[in-house]
Amino acid sequence: MAEAQGHEAPGAPTTVAVLGGGQLGRMLGLAGVALGLGMRFLDPSPGAGAGAIGTLLTGAFDDPDALARLAAGATVATYEWEGVPAGAARAVAATGVPVRPGSRALEVAQDRLVEKELLRTLGIPTAPFAEVEEGDPEPGAALRRALDAVGIPAVVKTRRGGYDGKGQAVVRSPADVDRAWAALSRSGPLIAEGMVAFRRELSILAVRGIDGEVRSWPVVENLHQDGILRVSRAPAPDLDPATEAAARAYAGAVLTELDYVGVVALELFDDPSALRVNEMAPRVHNSGHWTIEGATTSQFENHLRAILGWPLGDTAPRGVAAMVNCIGALPDPAAVLAVPGAHLHRYGKEPRAGRKVGHVTVVAADEAALEGRLSLVEELVGGAEGAAPGPPGP
Ligand code: AMP
Repeated sequence: MAEAQGHEAPGAPTTVAVLGGGQLGRMLGLAGVALGLGMRFLDPSPGAGAGAIGTLLTGAFDDPDALARLAAGATVATYEWEGVPAGAARAVAATGVPVRPGSRALEVAQDRLVEKELLRTLGIPTAPFAEVEEGDPEPGAALRRALDAVGIPAVVKTRRGGYDGKGQAVVRSPADVDRAWAALSRSGPLIAEGMVAFRRELSILAVRGIDGEVRSWPVVENLHQDGILRVSRAPAPDLDPATEAAARAYAGAVLTELDYVGVVALELFDDPSALRVNEMAPRVHNSGHWTIEGATTSQFENHLRAILGWPLGDTAPRGVAAMVNCIGALPDPAAVLAVPGAHLHRYGKEPRAGRKVGHVTVVAADEAALEGRLSLVEELVGGAEGAAPGPPGP
């Protein structure tokens, strides 16, 4: 049974229903409240951070009663997590409330093989990939065939359910194959990808309106640590115009193909031989948090504008920006806010090792001014994390 917390704005003419109530829902809600929208979230956790912003229904994504309560009277529904079962999106749509983006985007993004096949159909470069066929009686034989096709070094990934580098094994030599098979073969279907020797990781966020208009924010440079996004810089420093144009074209092609409405993120490898798409996130994205202070219109506001059929806002940057994730611990707020151009976001989550609990965005007029500010913020965020207790021992 879904329990409701909080209440919607009295007389709110428009209610947005959101599948998921984590920090992305919370920031979407902040933009929604500014627009006078009623925000309603469904999340399995009663402590989900979006509960501070709107009505939080607690329930499972496969609970028909919870889904019906989420949808009741809503103008439009969306999702803030790509792990939401496509069936939940379909159940909400079946009540007559439009779900934007639609369930096909979820289905594509939830299966790395389907996703890469779609990209290939659109002529968009990816890592070399091969399906690991199921049902081979000889353990590991199908994985060996897939690795023959993509070459070694390679990354073996679960087709479904992996995120932040989880559900992956790197194969650097034939001796690693059995270990990769032992680690992943019980986690469901697998895909093998050739290892891309990228210069750096980038991402592009774009938004498509109901009328088909597409706008994109500048390409972002992303730095990961232990498989988790650590720092994003926007616009990506020293990016050549051809790469920028390719990224924008890829995003436009994916959005149009899926008849997509809302914000999408494409994670990219800047490989000297080609710009390659690693994966898509059919939602607002961590590498777009800088847009709150660093762009004329944030990813959150534009997602809401898009799904409501309202005009899209300008996606131009206001200057330069960098975003630092707070992972497992939060820095001293006063120290962070003393840095010029720094903006602190805390998600209201219990700090735990490896968990994103907040972020800091630093803005400046130019790269030279940003550098010093970013170093100060990285020191404060890193210092807090270093001082935090590690995960509980066995
Ligand atoms: P993913 O879960 O696909 O986002 O992968 C997590 C991280 O692993 C990426 O951000 C890359 O740093 C790395 N990675 C994933 N796939 C590949 C690949 N095919 N080649 C090189 N690095 C990869």
